[in-house]
Amino acid sequence: MAKRLNGSVMFRKRTNVNDRFRVRVPGLFCVYCGVYADTDEHFPPVSHSVRGFVLPCCHECNVIAGSAHGTDFKKRALHVKRKLRSRYAKFLRVPIWSADELNEMGHDMKRDIRICQDKKRIVQSRLVWSAEGYLASIGQGKDFVLTNAEWDTTTE
Ligand SMILES: [Zn+2]
Repeated sequence: MAKRLNGSVMFRKRTNVNDRFRVRVPGLFCVYCGVYADTDEHFPPVSHSVRGFVLPCCHECNVIAGSAHGTDFKKRALHVKRKLRSRYAKFLRVPIWSADELNEMGHDMKRDIRICQDKKRIVQSRLVWSAEGYLASIGQGKDFVLTNAEWDTTTE
């Protein structure tokens, strides 16, 4: 951060010098789960190599991925999905109520069930998100797919 002559503060875009040997794969969505990406995922992790890729990732998946399976992206993606499945197991167990069943319930109960069902659908969509399909559709992601063969990172 530096001050201009007129006193206003000039922000410089933060760049990580450790990423200079990595290929950045630009994308709006998390490579692991498809929600909005607000962090950079390094694969292989920085602890394994200075070279590799920088992938779009959500904070939650980035923390879960950590340094797990640093040289096998397929195993790494499965690790993240398993952790998400475990973390949100209670929502995945929520039964789907019919409209008739919901109409028999009180307002608060109906609202709570709908919230749980919405969360269940969100978790399900995160679990079936295809990292391979997404990466193949964006920028430098094709290079990443080609160098990391044997994909199937969805779980059901
Ligand atoms: Zn994610």
